[in-house]
Amino acid sequence: MITKILVNGLKLIAVLLVLFLILFFAYGSSFFEKSTNTVTLKTTDIKKNSWYDSIPFIADLHCDALLWNRDLTKKHNYGHVDIPRMQEANMAFQVFTIVSKTPRGINIEQNSDKTDNVAILSFAQMQPWRNWFSIKSRALWQCNQLYHYADKSEGKFRVINSRKTLEQYLIDRKKNRNLTAGMLGLEGAHCLENSVENLKDFYNAGVRYIGLTHFFDNEWGGSAHGMKKDGLTAKGILLVHEMEKLHITIDLAHASPKTIDDVLANTTAPLLVSHTGVKGICENRRNLSDAHLIEIGKRNGLIGIGLWETAVCGTDAAATAKSIRYVADKIGVDKVALGSDFDGAIKTHFDVTGLPLIVAALEKEKFSRADIEKIMGANIRDFFLRNLPEE
Ligand SMILES: [Zn+2]
Repeated sequence: MITKILVNGLKLIAVLLVLFLILFFAYGSSFFEKSTNTVTLKTTDIKKNSWYDSIPFIADLHCDALLWNRDLTKKHNYGHVDIPRMQEANMAFQVFTIVSKTPRGINIEQNSDKTDNVAILSFAQMQPWRNWFSIKSRALWQCNQLYHYADKSEGKFRVINSRKTLEQYLIDRKKNRNLTAGMLGLEGAHCLENSVENLKDFYNAGVRYIGLTHFFDNEWGGSAHGMKKDGLTAKGILLVHEMEKLHITIDLAHASPKTIDDVLANTTAPLLVSHTGVKGICENRRNLSDAHLIEIGKRNGLIGIGLWETAVCGTDAAATAKSIRYVADKIGVDKVALGSDFDGAIKTHFDVTGLPLIVAALEKEKFSRADIEKIMGANIRDFFLRNLPEE
């Protein structure tokens, strides 16, 4: 009798386990995404101003859409970016950044590198098994996904990796406003797995900017949200030099203030901060100080202002426009752009189709049409025309 109860109990547990696994693999990843990549404002009826659709090059410096198990060639009613929504928003160019490891309990104050949520996500998405254990594998896998979407898009979307490909794209897009493009960046150099040699693999995969750290300190340098928040390590300095040789731009988003100082001391290359806010408007550990803003400006760098609350201390286009105004006044209107952090496991003001609201908010900040066109994308275009490798 007891044996029978025990056997039945075990059978029940096995059935429940199988059911859990089916639900986990079928819905786990998209359920997580739906609950995390949310918006303040649903963009069902956005009014574009009379000249929005004639802005020649709308662009954004930072989006984590490749982290999720969502076919970017199809329009979705969740998440922030996909190719059809980019087309709707007259968007010419989006940098797709690779998130390869994030800590449990992620926060902007202090995180260790001991836990790895992206490992669980890659398991739930049933990615190749090597991705569960290697951050390099899963980062390169995400890079490949962008080419996969480009193939699937039948010419509507392409990947930019050089000045030549960008110039050709500009010619083609003049004739066809329905074209969109992307470029690859890394969010955290920990996916180099402690080897400068691995930089070449990411260069070959098309990665053209790299944020040295993400939410935790790594082999290369200190994060603004790490345990120690130190500067560059000796290996980190070596990496900075190697990146410069290959024309891979350094992204200082998420870097600790000491890391930013060390990068400024170790390279003269133009620098990016792909998605940020500024302490002058929104004081927190996440955001950029005036001193750093001014130094990056002097080197003809580019500041991408975010579309979420921690970056701009507000939940609408007006808040983002206010921070953009601050940067433009401090270092010049040629050095500020959008760095939305779309699909970065955050609540943004709206998805990509809400960008007309940014244009309206910039008009309220008294920017001219010419300046708005720079901020909305021409600055990004010109930065990469100057700084991408020739071919
Ligand atoms: Zn980020």
